[in-house]
Amino acid sequence: MPITEQLSDRPRILVVGGGYVGLYVAMKLQKKVKDHGGIVTVVDPLPYMTYQPFLPEVAGGQIEPRHAVVSHRQHLKHAELINGRVSAIDHKNNKAVIVPVAGEPFEIEYRDVVMAAGAITRTFPIPGLADTGIGLKTIEEAVALRNKILERIESASLMTDAAERKRALTFVVIGGGFAGIETIAEIEDMARHAAKLNGRIEKGELRFVVVEAMGRIMPEVTEEQAVWVVDHLRSRGIEVMLNTSLANAEGGVMQLINMADKSPAETFETDTLIWTAGVMANPMVRSTDFPIEARGRVMTGTDLRITGEDGVAIEGAWAAGDVSAVPDVTGGLPDGTCVPNAQHAVRQAKLLAKNLYAARYGVGQVKNYKHKNLGAVAGFGAHKGVAKVMGIKLKGFPAWLAHRGYHGMAMPTFERKFRVVGGWFTSLLFQRDTLQLNNLENPRAAFVEAATPKPRV
Ligand SMILES: Cc1cc2nc3c(=O)[nH]c(=O)nc-3n(C[C@H](O)[C@H](O)[C@H](O)COP(=O)(O)OP(=O)(O)OC[C@H]3O[C@@H](n4cnc5c(N)ncnc54)[C@H](O)[C@@H]3O)c2cc1C
Repeated sequence: MPITEQLSDRPRILVVGGGYVGLYVAMKLQKKVKDHGGIVTVVDPLPYMTYQPFLPEVAGGQIEPRHAVVSHRQHLKHAELINGRVSAIDHKNNKAVIVPVAGEPFEIEYRDVVMAAGAITRTFPIPGLADTGIGLKTIEEAVALRNKILERIESASLMTDAAERKRALTFVVIGGGFAGIETIAEIEDMARHAAKLNGRIEKGELRFVVVEAMGRIMPEVTEEQAVWVVDHLRSRGIEVMLNTSLANAEGGVMQLINMADKSPAETFETDTLIWTAGVMANPMVRSTDFPIEARGRVMTGTDLRITGEDGVAIEGAWAAGDVSAVPDVTGGLPDGTCVPNAQHAVRQAKLLAKNLYAARYGVGQVKNYKHKNLGAVAGFGAHKGVAKVMGIKLKGFPAWLAHRGYHGMAMPTFERKFRVVGGWFTSLLFQRDTLQLNNLENPRAAFVEAATPKPRV
């Protein structure tokens, strides 16, 4: 039977993406819409929502990868789930094209659409970056990164060639925003612990470098706190290179340049290049008939409806999160729109669900989005962090506690909160887990080696 005949024939709210926004919108609406005879359909190539603020801790081995994601099947039981990606939307005719993870692309009809496809890693055309680098936007990247760092340490401890060993023990993060700083701090903590357990690596052999093109890191915290973070990282032996950028990464040779005059800064080799230098709205929005603004986001009103070029709301079309340009009436980016972060994504999703419900079923009122930034919390490995919450500035242990407290609470669903917090308690008792899983990229290797006859090539 064709897949389209197996899908619901109820009036559909199509949710494009099941991340922060998609998951919350669907959780809030799935049952209410069903009671009205409709259906919420969530389309995402992934069967889970990723709690991205936990990715540095997953990379650092503080959180189990599966605990940092929320299963759609488990928590969206009243919604229709399609594992695939939306490749095009023709809103004038209320139709979308879906490319499923298996089978042929097909068309689906909807009554309302929620654009929630988020953002993707933004890169620049730097030679060698695509061959050597890895991002930190998905759980798979975090898992691979952790295993790679631990594997490099273990392998380096057996290397006798000094240059080869140095390269294996050098870890580089490009991008001094929240994600980059948390990542370098978490992996430094984990790598030092792993090296100590190994016993054949000297403390001074490990090298950690974070490269930032601007004159300061972490724009989300105050200048004074950013300076403190730089001092803190340097006190841990992490090199923070400001006003510096990566010009070339071919063959794992990092050629850094000074931003001011583009003169060469430093050249060194690494096997581990982590790119966290920004995100951009999901380019899939360009395959829709929605208006796109200068930063590539869907034009959105304060009530979270997608608007036309003239600012007038488009019937049945909604957007929130990183893919949307929602006006921030309290400030935000220089163009007056909300910054792409989870704080906005979650709140916008909850309001979007209420507004859509009010507009479609006449229950409640459509309201405008307004959220004043509450601040920021960042963890830098066990018992270390920085925070600015509602004007209160914290550093070190209290900031780390605030970080854990905030994210423990913010993790969606009780079940997932419980797993994450449970894991934190376990690592308090048994320390950071530095176990490396081998051969995840080639799990059949052992079987193939044992099997006869060998597979045909
Ligand atoms: C490492 C890291 C750390 C972060 N830390 C913080 C933090 O501490 N605090 C904070 O406030 N924010 C943080 N953020 C930002 C925050 O995670 C994002 O702003 C938030 O995830 C945005 O939610 P969203 O729903 O718009 O997008 P996402 O959560 O990214 O969800 C988008 C979904 O759309 C799906 N999708 C993509 N393409 C398609 C398609 N064609 N069709 C269907 N589905 C599609 C994706 O698979 C994904 O599930 C961090 C981000 C990263 C990467």
